[in-house]
Amino acid sequence: MIKKVLIANRGEIALRVLRACREMGIKTVAIHSTADRDLKHVRLADESVCIGPAPSPESYLNIPAIISAAELTNADAIHPGYGFLSENADFAERVESSGFIFIGPKAETIRLMGDKISAKEAMIKARVPCVPGSDGAIPEAEADVKKMALDIGYPVIIKATSGGGGRGMRVIQREADLMESIRLTQTEAKAAFGNDTLYMEKFLTTPRHIEFQVLSDKHGNAIHLCERDCSMQRRHQKVVEEAPAPGLPVEEREKLGKTLADACKSIDYHGAGTFEFLYENGEFYFIEMNTRLQVEHTVTEQITGIDLVKQQIKIAAGEVLDIPNTIQPRGHAIECRINAEDPVTFLPSPGKITRYHVPGGLGVRVDSHIYADYTVPPNYDSMIGKLITHGENRETAIARMRGALTEMIIEGIKTNIPLHLKILDDPEFQQGGANIHHLEHMLEDSSS
Ligand code: ADP
Repeated sequence: MIKKVLIANRGEIALRVLRACREMGIKTVAIHSTADRDLKHVRLADESVCIGPAPSPESYLNIPAIISAAELTNADAIHPGYGFLSENADFAERVESSGFIFIGPKAETIRLMGDKISAKEAMIKARVPCVPGSDGAIPEAEADVKKMALDIGYPVIIKATSGGGGRGMRVIQREADLMESIRLTQTEAKAAFGNDTLYMEKFLTTPRHIEFQVLSDKHGNAIHLCERDCSMQRRHQKVVEEAPAPGLPVEEREKLGKTLADACKSIDYHGAGTFEFLYENGEFYFIEMNTRLQVEHTVTEQITGIDLVKQQIKIAAGEVLDIPNTIQPRGHAIECRINAEDPVTFLPSPGKITRYHVPGGLGVRVDSHIYADYTVPPNYDSMIGKLITHGENRETAIARMRGALTEMIIEGIKTNIPLHLKILDDPEFQQGGANIHHLEHMLEDSSS
């Protein structure tokens, strides 16, 4: 039984976790930095503990401070949210060894899937389709690497096994650039991640980003909850997400979904997770697994009616998954990430929100911690909320989103709402199925 959860995060996701706990009759402990005393979930939580100053390394990434807060408040479990320590295997280990339940997979699973080479090896074993590539680290001898790249076929991409956040990778168009690019990426990877092991993959030129949500319990039951299309990206950051993926045949969803549910069993996965794929010419290619809740989990909740945070908590408590293994998605959902940033230059725009009006109506959901008079601190990610619409089909979801964005008023700071309205009016977005480069091309065209 979990009676009290410490929420090791901030902002909208901390509020999201708090809401799920409240519905389940679970008490909550909020932790926060000195910059975050006025966060909404801190006010709503049963208890709160200030764990350090504004910089994340001294607060939201401070493992001893978080464990002490859990001890002080007698929490049973810790929910890591996303970002911060959510995919840190050492943290998961410390949580468990200190006698608390980590709401997420086992530390060893986080470690296995956090290293991209071992993740890919595990997926190949589970018959999950992967991008053709080196199947392990690249060889040391120059002649062997050159042969490998030729066999895979240019362009190729070199990636650091410990890389993340879109860093530690380099695309190579021709053999003349190969060795120098490898050396540069190795140096960068060593400095950024403390590990210079690299692997090689075929570089796909016009893929879509499609990911599958899974739930897997501690008793060998696993299901998939359909897919999301997150191809609208800028600098590898998702801007708009939707579910299901436009135009994806039902048979393809079911086939891959079943393989992924089996893959969860083969790695003894516990909790909610996401398998990310590139999708090109009707083929899926695994790129990585996120062993946590994702920002865009909301669109899956809207089309399945399943509360993913509650499921995470139930699984962590050892309950048996009680969801039928064939989910029929209902309608279409879209999420726009609302960022405190300039819609043209993308520079962060922290500061005081002077006026705030939320949209509403059928099929409109707002997940956000902001309120009028709230000051967005400059210390953290610029996302201040998510606007989600759901409708019987994609057209309705888009029309509702346009209406909701128009209704939404956030004054005092700049937001990317104008950018979202532009995306909704883009013919290729409206058609559905744009690739991962489309948004950047769209932005280049509109700035020239
Ligand atoms: P990270 O963990 O840093 O996010 P990923 O492996 O998920 O790294 O890749 C991030 C992004 O890089 C992908 O969403 C895609 O845009 C691009 N990318 C990665 N691998 C390939 C590939 N083989 N071909 C084309 N693009 C790729």
